Amino acid sequence: VAPGILRLQLPIPLPGLKHVNCYAMEDERGWTVVDPGLPGPVSFRSLHRRIHQAGFRVRDVHSVVVTHSHPDHFGGAGRLREAAGADVVTAANFRVWWDPEDGDDTALEGADRVAHHEIDLDGDREALAEGVRLDPDVAHAHAHGDEDDSAGDDDAELAEAETPWGGKRPRPPRMMRAALAVSRPFRRKLFPAPRPSIRLEEAQTIRLGRREWVAVHTPGHTPDHLCLYDPEHEVLLSGDHVLPTITPHISGLDGGPDPLANYVASLDKVAGLPGVRYVLPAHGHPFGDLPDRVAAIHRHHDERLDRLHQHLADLGEGTVGELSRRLFRPKAWGPMAESETYAHLEHLRLACRATRHPRRGTVVYSLP
Ligand SMILES: [Zn+2]
Ligand SMILES: [Zn+2]
Repeated sequence: VAPGILRLQLPIPLPGLKHVNCYAMEDERGWTVVDPGLPGPVSFRSLHRRIHQAGFRVRDVHSVVVTHSHPDHFGGAGRLREAAGADVVTAANFRVWWDPEDGDDTALEGADRVAHHEIDLDGDREALAEGVRLDPDVAHAHAHGDEDDSAGDDDAELAEAETPWGGKRPRPPRMMRAALAVSRPFRRKLFPAPRPSIRLEEAQTIRLGRREWVAVHTPGHTPDHLCLYDPEHEVLLSGDHVLPTITPHISGLDGGPDPLANYVASLDKVAGLPGVRYVLPAHGHPFGDLPDRVAAIHRHHDERLDRLHQHLADLGEGTVGELSRRLFRPKAWGPMAESETYAHLEHLRLACRATRHPRRGTVVYSLP
C-alpha cells in the first residue's frame, strides 16, 4: 500500500467497522506490525494467517506499534510480545483502562471504559459499534454469565450518576463483561496485556522497516493517540485519527475540558505535515489527499456544532440525552452518542455559544 509496507486486513466483529488494518514492514532485524487486531484467539489466528500469507513468521516480528489504547488496535500486542519477544511501541502516555493482567474485578470497572465507536462522516450512514466484542471462542465459553443492565433513567440512577450529565458511561456489550467476569483464571493466557516497552515522546524518531519514523502525538480520539510520519517516503500511519470515510468517536469523558478542541488541533497538526502522499488508516482504504480529508472532518464537526446550536434555539433547553437523540439516528442512541454530544456541547459552552445549568442530578444546556 506504500513503499515497503503491506496491509494485513484483520476481521473485527464490530457493526460499522468490520476490519482493522494491520500494517507490516520488513527490515534487517525482521518485521514490524502496526495495530495487530482484537484480543483473543480468533483474531490472533487471523493475524497468524495473514503473516504467513505475507511470507514471514510470528517469531520474525521484532516490534509492534500500537496507535492507541482501543482493543481493536492493541489486542494482539501482548501475544506478539510473548510469542516473539517483540517490543511494544506506543505514545509516551499510552494507557489501557483495562489491564487484563490485574486479575481482580477492578479490571471489570476498567473494561467499561474500553468502549469504542466511530461515526460515518455523512450523517445518514451513522454506524455505531456499541463496544468491543470478545472473540466468539471466548464469549461462547461463558454464554450464561448474563446480567441485567437494562434499567432506565430512574431517580436512583441519577443519584449515583456515572457521568457529568447524569447518564451512563459507555460500556462494552454485556457479553464481553460476562466473559471477562468468568474468564479470570485463564485471562492471562488469552489477553496478555499490551505493556509498552518503547514509549515515544513527541517528535522522537524510531527506526522501523528501513526508515526513520517521527512520533506525532494526536490526542482527541483518545488522549494517547500516536501517528507515525515517514517524511522520506511521505507516509503517515494515521491510526484512527484520520480515517477515509468515517470520523472517530470523540469522547466527552477523556482528555480534559474540551476533547473536541484537542482533536481539531491534532487534525491541523497532521494536515500541516509536509508532503504526505500515503495516508495509511486503521480502518478503510489508504488514501492520498490528507489536507482535503482533514477539511472534510472539520466541516463534519462544524455542521454538528451548528445543528446542536439550532436544536438549542428550537427547544429552548435540553439535556445531553435529549440533544443526543436529536443529533444521532435511533440505532446509535445510547451512552456513546451521549458522550460525543457532551463533547460537542462543552465545546459550544467554552466558546460561549451555550450555557449549562445543573438540574436534579443532570445538566441542561441552553443558549446564553
Ligand atoms: Zn479507536
Ligand atoms: Zn479503531
